[in-house]
Amino acid sequence: MIILVINCGSSSIKYQLLDMKNDDVYDLLAKGLVEKIGLPMGALTHRPTGKDKVYKELPIADHKIGMQLVLDELINPVSGVLKSFDDIEAVGHRIVQGADYFSGSAIVDEDVMEKIGICCDFAPLHNPAHILGIRAVQQVLPSVPQVVTFDTAYHQTMPEYAYMYALPYEYYTKYRVRRYGAHGTSHQFVAQKGAKFVGLDLENSKIITCHIGNGSSVTAIVNGKVVDTSMGFTPLEGMIMGTRCGNIDPNIVPYIMKKENLTPDQMTDIMNKKSGFAGLSGISSDARDLDAAANEGDKRAKLVLKKLTYDVIKLIGSYVAAMDGVDAIFFTAGIGENNARFRRRVCENLTYLGVKFDYEANAVSGKDTLLSCPDSKVKIALITTDEELVIARDTMHLVQNMDE
Ligand code: ADP
Repeated sequence: MIILVINCGSSSIKYQLLDMKNDDVYDLLAKGLVEKIGLPMGALTHRPTGKDKVYKELPIADHKIGMQLVLDELINPVSGVLKSFDDIEAVGHRIVQGADYFSGSAIVDEDVMEKIGICCDFAPLHNPAHILGIRAVQQVLPSVPQVVTFDTAYHQTMPEYAYMYALPYEYYTKYRVRRYGAHGTSHQFVAQKGAKFVGLDLENSKIITCHIGNGSSVTAIVNGKVVDTSMGFTPLEGMIMGTRCGNIDPNIVPYIMKKENLTPDQMTDIMNKKSGFAGLSGISSDARDLDAAANEGDKRAKLVLKKLTYDVIKLIGSYVAAMDGVDAIFFTAGIGENNARFRRRVCENLTYLGVKFDYEANAVSGKDTLLSCPDSKVKIALITTDEELVIARDTMHLVQNMDE
């Protein structure tokens, strides 16, 4: 089944075209990115498998025009990979926020669209863009079924005491303020693949997944079901991230707002886009730049890297306590998959769990690898994530069932 996977941001469209033979066997036909939608000059990067990359700069007024550009590129006689639009059998979308409406992926219909619309309140940067993307596909490919996969869905199994905040209860009933989590497709994929990889029965296991990238979250999973996760009502909560502050004393927010005379939107922007690695180091939001600066002796870069490790160590410790033990800890995403020094620093602090870290195996990047010695009480592994594959799988299953 040929499936187009779409990840729409407020000014971008990322896409992958996959030919799914079954859950595990597929061909990547093409992937690419439309950027700077709505700006005076936009760009399209299209990477067809086995053919030359295409890069075009042109104004892209809105998501519909962006989507049309992608589809035209897919059937272009030179750079395309399909004969016609009719070859696309389904489209799957990544949706950041599904709140407590969705505990799994869904076929798009008007009811689903309405609920994604209600969730715009909780993800104002992302959900409106997702809606634009779905509507654009409806206009350009009206007869193709569409599926939505939610970053929040996997976390819906959390118990009430883990997802409730100790605020007046009416803020939950009136405004649905609670922990929803994020990166759910990644945590689910990594827990399933990781359990198989290290020889654990997922249905009978205690796993901690560490998705550490530009955005980062850690999740506790018992018998395949999430019991807690570090991101909260929005993806701002939890550990330090590239540009997000993670946990801070909530009283800091009104304090800084008064001191600096800031509006709520300005403060939100500072906590989401100007904090984290970038804000604390004053150098960069990218861990590679901080590694380089730390190697040169930069104190604030060292502080950021120390805090990154410390936050993860604390989250792991709290989830071991919450689960009363742990069988496996998996590292994934940009930093988790590629930064050996980060993984070593975290695992050096896990000796209390009986972790025996395999330092030699750790000299690896972007490849599923066991990082613990055979006599380690807890299995540690690098497990690569693939959110697009989860979306394509879910899309294939739901559309196949629809046909039956
Ligand atoms: P996003 O959350 O935007 O998907 P990623 O998961 O790609 O982000 O993570 C970005 C982070 O991962 C950056 O801090 C970057 O330094 C790090 N990273 C990504 N690729 C590599 C690499 N090949 N080597 C070292 N670090 C990497």
